[in-house]
Amino acid sequence: AKADGRGIARFFDRSMQDAADRRAAFEGAMRNGLSLGQFRLFCQPQFDARGRLRGAEVLVRWQRGEHDLIGPEHFIGFAEESGLILPLGEHVLNETCRALARWQDDSTLGRLKLAVNVSVHQMRHPDFPSAVAGILDGTGAPAGRLCLELTESVFAEDMHEISGRMHQLRAHGICFSLDDFGTGYSSLAYLKRFPLSELKIDRSFVRDVSTDAGSASIVEAIIALARKLKLDIVAEGVEHEAQRSFLVHGGCSSMQGFLLGRPLPLAEFEHQYSAAGVG
Ligand code: C2E
Ligand code: CA
Ligand code: CA
Ligand code: CA
Repeated sequence: AKADGRGIARFFDRSMQDAADRRAAFEGAMRNGLSLGQFRLFCQPQFDARGRLRGAEVLVRWQRGEHDLIGPEHFIGFAEESGLILPLGEHVLNETCRALARWQDDSTLGRLKLAVNVSVHQMRHPDFPSAVAGILDGTGAPAGRLCLELTESVFAEDMHEISGRMHQLRAHGICFSLDDFGTGYSSLAYLKRFPLSELKIDRSFVRDVSTDAGSASIVEAIIALARKLKLDIVAEGVEHEAQRSFLVHGGCSSMQGFLLGRPLPLAEFEHQYSAAGVG
């Protein structure tokens, strides 16, 4: 039994070492990828209820090789644990602002807002507002075209600090959107305490909106709440015409989803939607 115990202990030591090695290798690969510019921005269009393009959400992907494109679900969590989310998030903001700056003279692209996903780890950083201001200055991007998407997880942080940082950024003209609304642990009271401009209805509610009375009621209630609070509302994950039509008739102001447009590489998005053919 003794020998068995040591064997098991050795086995766990080894597998923990393997896991640590794998993490170190992954971290090294991500750092390398960041320095090589392998983290590419994709843009998914957002449309208003009348079908006019109003902006896009920026989604990052890791192009590790010509035919090796990795989705954010495989690296954002790790980036958050390792702290790499800070340089990665800065890269995404910088590339987004560079795009906003070059779009200014295009009659179509110049009117769009770009929404960037911001991790709670970025918001936790006291220097985040000044870093964003520095990126706006450095790129010449119009701050009024930049929107930051936060999830309800930021509300588990020090409310005073987070709301202070949001107000600092808001003063530059940046707006805030609350992502995946309804899935987190937010209390409705937060909606009034933070300077938000928009709520995004999570895909899980949109999915069943035309087939399940419960989901339909939740979506109707979120739209009514947003209207009362004078917040814009974006439904995400719109895949079917029945969902789109339910949302339009329910008074949803904007939508995003595969039915309307897939995420495209930034350059393709620019090419597809520009009036004058920038880039
Ligand atoms: P999210 O913010 O909820 O982003 C929306 C996700 O839904 C995207 O997945 C998008 O491709 C997908 N999607 C859009 N329309 C549809 C649809 O009609 N049907 C379905 N089934 N899916 C749809 P993606 O690009 O894989 O991103 C996953 C998550 O990774 C995002 O969820 C976001 O939380 C995170 N993420 C992406 N880019 C960044 C980033 O730059 N920074 C941070 N911190 N997180 C990011
Ligand atoms: Ca988002
Ligand atoms: Ca979302
Ligand atoms: Ca979501």
